[in-house]
Parts: sequence; structure tokens; C-alpha cells
Amino acid sequence: EPVLYIVATPIGNLGDLSPRAQEVLAGADLIAAEDTRHTGRLLAHFNIKAAMISVHDHNERQRADLVIRHLQEGDQVVLVSDAGTPLISDPGFFLVRAVREAGFKVSPVPGCCAFIAALSVSGLPSDRFLFEGFLPSKSGARRQRLEALRNETPTLVFYESTHRIASSLDDMSSVFGAERYAVVARELTKTFETVRGGTLAELIDWMGADANQQKGEFVVLVHGAQSQGPVDLDPEALRIVRLLNEELP
Ligand code: SAM
Repeated sequence: EPVLYIVATPIGNLGDLSPRAQEVLAGADLIAAEDTRHTGRLLAHFNIKAAMISVHDHNERQRADLVIRHLQEGDQVVLVSDAGTPLISDPGFFLVRAVREAGFKVSPVPGCCAFIAALSVSGLPSDRFLFEGFLPSKSGARRQRLEALRNETPTLVFYESTHRIASSLDDMSSVFGAERYAVVARELTKTFETVRGGTLAELIDWMGADANQQKGEFVVLVHGAQSQGPVDLDPEALRIVRLLNEELP
């Protein structure tokens, strides 16, 4: 039976590519990759040879048609992204939906996901969390998003890059308050893996004092808002407070 496999790849340490992932990649007739050169290096490391096509945000629709044609011919197709689990802040959503709608099986080969790895070592509540991925790149839109999250009680999980980590922490501090506890997980599974917890103010100071700590890839996890006050109000009072909140600047 032709299948589209969604295969997770390492987020740093190549030892994290599972035996089954290697097997499925080696058996693929076609590998759809976010960046074929990047995936080419991964495949070369494992001595795997396969035909590749690129799938990124700008060509996913055409690529879906091509992948479906391959499946119709009985080919095994694999989707990978540059790192971690495809579709998690990565391309693939349109492809998976189109392939499923065309009636083909889509099967996961699970593995690394940066935010799950970060959550598992953060020491923050993990029973409920809100994965937000990347915040908007412009500060105005970013603050607006953060405002909308200010009273959320689950642990908040964000992806961040070298370029914006400092300004994002600043915005989080001004919106959530400098005393909100957070954890920064940097370069997980790589040489300079660092996981650091503290108030947002402490984290900003620590990062400001050491420019090396601003380099690499980050997951930022923020403790949820403490639930208090409004939950004890009667529902009608709560409704009015919400209405007022929406109207006020
Ligand atoms: N699909 C990936 C996954 O499953 O985690 C995420 C892809 S997203 C384009 C890349 C972002 O993931 C980075 O900017 C960073 O926020 C996070 N990330 C990826 N690798 C990481 C690592 N080794 N340590 C910390 N964060 C990482």
C-alpha cells in the first residue's frame, strides 16, 4: 500500500534519528524535504540514497499534486523538514491534508520535537501547555499576541531565533511582568545545550551579560498566569468584566 510517511529528524544530535526512521528513509521512492541540500547531508551521513524534491511554503500546493501522482503509481513517499517533526512550525499541513483527501494513508514516524524536549526538562507544569510557535517578528504585533496570552494559565511555549531572542524576552517581561518565571532552552541535544530558569528580569540580565547565550536556537517556556480572583466571581459578573475589558483601551 502506498503511504506518505511523516518522519521526524534530529534537532541537533544525529544519534536521535531512530532506526525505523532510517529504514523508512532508505526505503522511500521519493523524499519531500523542506531543503534538499540540508536533508542531503543527513542522508549522506546515514548512507541513504533517494530521489528528493523540495516542499516549502511557496510550492506546497503544486508539490501536493506531484506527491499524489507518485502515490497513485504505488510509490512510498516521505516528508521531512530541516529539523524535528514536520508541520510543527514547519511546512506540510497542506500536503498532508491533500494526500488524506485523495484517500491515501499518511503515517507518522515520530521522534524529535524541540518544544516537547524543552518542556520535558523545564520543570514547568506540563499537564497543560499552550504551544504558540514563533511570535510575530514586529514588536507591535508581538506585544499584541503576548497581551492576548497574559492571563492564560497553561505553560506558554514559544520558538525563538538568535535575532529576536533578546527583544522577545523584553516584550514578555513588559507584558507578563518582570517577575514571571520562565525557562530558556537553547541548542538542545547540541554541544552548547543550556537550560536556564529564572524570572524574566533575571533571564534578561543573564543573557545581556553573555552574548554567547543569545546564539543558536531557543525554546522559551513561560509559567502560566496564576489563576486567582475572577474564577471565584459569579459567571454574570465575570461576563460583564470580560465585556468591559474588550471595550477598554
Ligand atoms: N519542526 C521543528 C520541531 O519539531 O521542533 C521546529 C522547526 S522551527 C522552523 C525551528 C525552531 O525550533 C527554532 O527556531 C527553535 O525555536 C526550535 N528549535 C529547533 N531545534 C532546537 C534545538 N536544538 N534547541 C532549541 N530549540 C530548537
